[in-house]
Amino acid sequence: MSNLSLLVTESQLDTLTHFAREDYPNESCSLLLGNIVNNEYCVKMIKRMENIAHSEYSFNIDPDELMKAYQWASANELNVVGVFHSHLVGSHPSNTDLTFMKINPVIWLIYEVSSSTYTAHLLVEDSLEKVKIEISKD
Ligand SMILES: [Zn+2]
Repeated sequence: MSNLSLLVTESQLDTLTHFAREDYPNESCSLLLGNIVNNEYCVKMIKRMENIAHSEYSFNIDPDELMKAYQWASANELNVVGVFHSHLVGSHPSNTDLTFMKINPVIWLIYEVSSSTYTAHLLVEDSLEKVKIEISKD
């Protein structure tokens, strides 16, 4: 277990669950924007992204849209603290996920539709660590 934690609110998780159900059966993806204070990755807002792969087994974000989202976050004094996406079954990052986790070294939040559960992961020097999710009331 990583010593980091992801701070989200109940309503933020509800929003992500809603997106995952709307995009079902395809994978849903969003960026989690917020601030990093000490070891806490605090989510302030969710930026929904389009899965241009339109796939049940993977997701892909248009590089221009991703760049715009990073620029928007930066202009609004926010960081991309996490990448969210959904899986139909399985909470473990796929091999494709692991490749992109190397490029985007933030917390990866996965929602497993079949079990309605969230897990968070971080890749640290090629080793996958689970991240604690701390859920607060709004
Ligand atoms: Zn995945």
